[in-house]
Amino acid sequence: MNIVVCIKQVPDSAATLKVEEPSNVSWGDALLIINPWDEYAIEEAIRLKEKFGGKVTVLTVGTEQSKEALKQAVAMGCDEAHLISDPAFVGSDALAMTYILAQAIKQLGEVDLVAFGKQAIDSDTGLVPAGVARRLGWPLLSYIAKIDEIDPAGKSLKVTRLLEQGRQSVSSKLPVVITAVKEINEPRYPSFMNIRKAGKLQIPVLDAAAIGADVSKLGATQAATQWLKVFPPPARTGTVEMISGDSPQAIAVTLADKLLAEKVI
Ligand SMILES: Cc1cc2nc3c(=O)[nH]c(=O)nc-3n(C[C@H](O)[C@H](O)[C@H](O)COP(=O)(O)OP(=O)(O)OC[C@H]3O[C@@H](n4cnc5c(N)ncnc54)[C@H](O)[C@@H]3O)c2cc1C
Repeated sequence: MNIVVCIKQVPDSAATLKVEEPSNVSWGDALLIINPWDEYAIEEAIRLKEKFGGKVTVLTVGTEQSKEALKQAVAMGCDEAHLISDPAFVGSDALAMTYILAQAIKQLGEVDLVAFGKQAIDSDTGLVPAGVARRLGWPLLSYIAKIDEIDPAGKSLKVTRLLEQGRQSVSSKLPVVITAVKEINEPRYPSFMNIRKAGKLQIPVLDAAAIGADVSKLGATQAATQWLKVFPPPARTGTVEMISGDSPQAIAVTLADKLLAEKVI
């Protein structure tokens, strides 16, 4: 199988966000990691390759430092990695990202499956996989908790989608775009051999010309979304009261009385 995984380098989930008006959002010098949801997509892609053969190519649209995320994906077991980067991409929004990624995927020959995480933990829109699927003209199977069956030769698969109301069984033809949720697998730790391989890897950089992207569709002026204003939420107000007493029971009674008095319970 020829599988592509799209990943995003994001600030660590413990990073503190700073918001400065009018529109500057910064994570300072926070540690950068692979978007945690993408690790499930990587793991599933590697498992499919191990079962059916083929290769896993990992892509990211980002900057030079995003190569670290790509190396981490190779250390997990991906075979190839490409950084897609060009000064013309600066200011591109989610819509433009879907165009850039779809163009890059089209350069990779006959692809059977493109895997994403269900969303990125920083911008958090969940828009990119649907946009890429639309541009490629392939079905999108989102929130996949299990790939039940896959027939690479017959070009079909059956999956279980995790919905708020329950689970949904869906079948589709390949090629397809999927997004993974954490129920799908347990991502592996990189092996020592693969860490060494990733360390030596020269990651090719594909620019707009290499992926055949029309730069007039990209950048801040072409963005469909604009950040009109960015502002921090108002600081929380409130007080803390420590309840003391002679015993846990007495403290619990005092607490219950206070909650009743405040009409919380
Ligand atoms: C270098 C860079 C510059 C940016 N500049 C701007 C800007 O100026 N203005 C602006 O509005 N936005 C900017 N963005 C944000 C960018 O538009 C978001 O990445 C995009 O909106 C995706 O939305 P999301 O993060 O909510 O992803 P989601 O749709 O929540 O993510 C879903 C899936 O798509 C994948 N995905 C998301 N982004 C990428 C990517 N870049 N490469 C590969 N896979 C991806 C995720 O890893 C995840 O698997 C920039 C991003 C980058 C990387």
